[in-house]
Amino acid sequence: MLVHGGAWAIPDDAAQAHLSGVHNALEAGYKFLTRGGSALDAVEAAVTVMEDDPTFDAGRGSFLTSNGRVQLDALLMDGGRMKAGGVACVERLRNPIQAARLVLERSPHVYFVGTGAEEFALSHGMALIDNSELVLDRERERLRSAQERQAAGLADATFSGLEDDKGPETALPRVIDFSHDTVGAVALDSHGNLAAGTSTGGTLNKTPGRVGDSSLIGCGCYADNMSAAVSLTGWGEPIMKLVLGKWATDRVAAGSAPEFSAREAITYLHNRLGGHGGIILLGPDGRFGMAHNTPAMAWGLATENGLATGLKL
Ligand code: ASP
Repeated sequence: MLVHGGAWAIPDDAAQAHLSGVHNALEAGYKFLTRGGSALDAVEAAVTVMEDDPTFDAGRGSFLTSNGRVQLDALLMDGGRMKAGGVACVERLRNPIQAARLVLERSPHVYFVGTGAEEFALSHGMALIDNSELVLDRERERLRSAQERQAAGLADATFSGLEDDKGPETALPRVIDFSHDTVGAVALDSHGNLAAGTSTGGTLNKTPGRVGDSSLIGCGCYADNMSAAVSLTGWGEPIMKLVLGKWATDRVAAGSAPEFSAREAITYLHNRLGGHGGIILLGPDGRFGMAHNTPAMAWGLATENGLATGLKL
């Protein structure tokens, strides 16, 4: 099992919180696998722990939209049954990954957005909360400073259009200061099934209604026993345009080692669109890869030999 808790220039004073966050997520998820449970349960449990941890840009503590709200996206995919469940732009759910699980298990549909997604979750037993319960003062302050920079004409207050206007050479150095604390997990169980999940509050100061790569099938998340399981974090717009999760899993299906395909995917992201981010990738034979082109990525790995976490590869 692999997890990530975002890829960016994680500052020293946030390092320990990121390491413990991914460690706790691994512990919560991996115990399902050691008991013979499903990869899907393991991924859902790990992502839930990170949604509940305010360190990350998922669930409570997420970045705020330009109008000061938390708006969440999540996807869960079962590579054995080829089932997927996604939600986007939800504002009243504490754990969108659990709503994604309900969509996966209990709906003929695959993806719900906004109030429709919230009503679906409510009708299947989830509690609706007030959006303010998800908002931290730390994030109000972060939004205020981003909007001040934007008003002052500093272009890095939002990602919009950077890759198209400026090209790969200028985009990367200008955006690495931005935090990407999206969370994700991939797992392989003893039945040979793969699963993947990704959950996010999206990018800081995003326009309400904006959906990033994280919850879109094949972009920030994908799982198929015939290829691989993947979760990404980073600047969502370029990742979406390249359908990068599916791109990486297709390479594994074609015979590339996940270790190599993960690095190739991040190189492609940068060379093609000036994008930046990180990836975790797990094949059906247990071989895996991780890569990032940001200064750091919070990652965790659990195998029969124990748990490992780190901030750099
Ligand atoms: N990829 C996410 C998005 O664009 C953000 C992130 O990974 O931090 O919504």
